[in-house]
Amino acid sequence: MGVLLKFEWPSGLVGYSDLHPWEELGDASVRDQLLEFQSGNISQQMAQSMWLAQRDAQARARHESLFQKFDQGLRQVKNNFLLTDLKNTEDLTQVRLHFDTIKVKVGRDLTAESVSLVPLAEMGFNIRLDFNAAIDSVQYFQFMRNLDPIVRKRIEYVEDPFPFDATLWSQARRFSKIALDNQYHNVDWEPFKGLNQISIKEYECPFDVLIIKPAKMNVESAMSRCLEYDLRASVTSYMDHPVGEAHALTVAAELKEKYGDRILQAGCLTHSQYKDDIFSAEIQMQGAFVKKVTGTGIGFDHLLESLPWTQELKI
Ligand code: MG
Repeated sequence: MGVLLKFEWPSGLVGYSDLHPWEELGDASVRDQLLEFQSGNISQQMAQSMWLAQRDAQARARHESLFQKFDQGLRQVKNNFLLTDLKNTEDLTQVRLHFDTIKVKVGRDLTAESVSLVPLAEMGFNIRLDFNAAIDSVQYFQFMRNLDPIVRKRIEYVEDPFPFDATLWSQARRFSKIALDNQYHNVDWEPFKGLNQISIKEYECPFDVLIIKPAKMNVESAMSRCLEYDLRASVTSYMDHPVGEAHALTVAAELKEKYGDRILQAGCLTHSQYKDDIFSAEIQMQGAFVKKVTGTGIGFDHLLESLPWTQELKI
């Protein structure tokens, strides 16, 4: 469950964002984060919601659309297609017309999944696998060893294969590139400092890509890690409200403009996982690209202004 947030600063700035924790991935509940916020303790997720709302507010005050501002980047930020369940693969031929990269959530039924990945590879998708660190290293190595070579060849990277362990993740890189996402906070970056530059293979950073989720992590420090450790980055939304998706998209567009090829395809089109609503209807797409959301800031002006906002915590 999540909430939409409206922030009003004493300066008169007004901006919007959302807060959508995933308790099953270890986030504190909305209620706990809002209660903590009321007593002056700001969670990392709430800090990001504030930062995004402020970014929105500043653009609104200038009557400027963030989609227009970062239009150049937006036109280059292609999105992957998200498949949360490999059992629902019925109409991927249509998807393939627009998307060349598919991200698949795996780790629930390894045997069935390794079979279901074959048709995706045969269709020519580049594949991003996301295990959410749900299995252990023994299961992972076995899965990768048994994977059809046609699938292995199409894997762009594997996200959070198993709980972070520098040595074992290094070994996992023998099979494919590795991306760090929900294990971000378990990484001690110190030992890898400066080593990439002198190319001592076994001490290199044990991953290649950093997943940047503006809803959850400080974007500037994540980006400076990418530069320092020579990582690529993919910006993704947090399977949250279209408001959060619009924020993630504009951040992705801004980073694309600044960092070019270092920024890989994004994973911001998550609204298709949910029933359409009046907000998602505002997101103007063109295949794997988002054109814009009309309005100022992140858009949705009339919808956001007409919501019945409350200051009471009723959850
Ligand atoms: Mg992930």
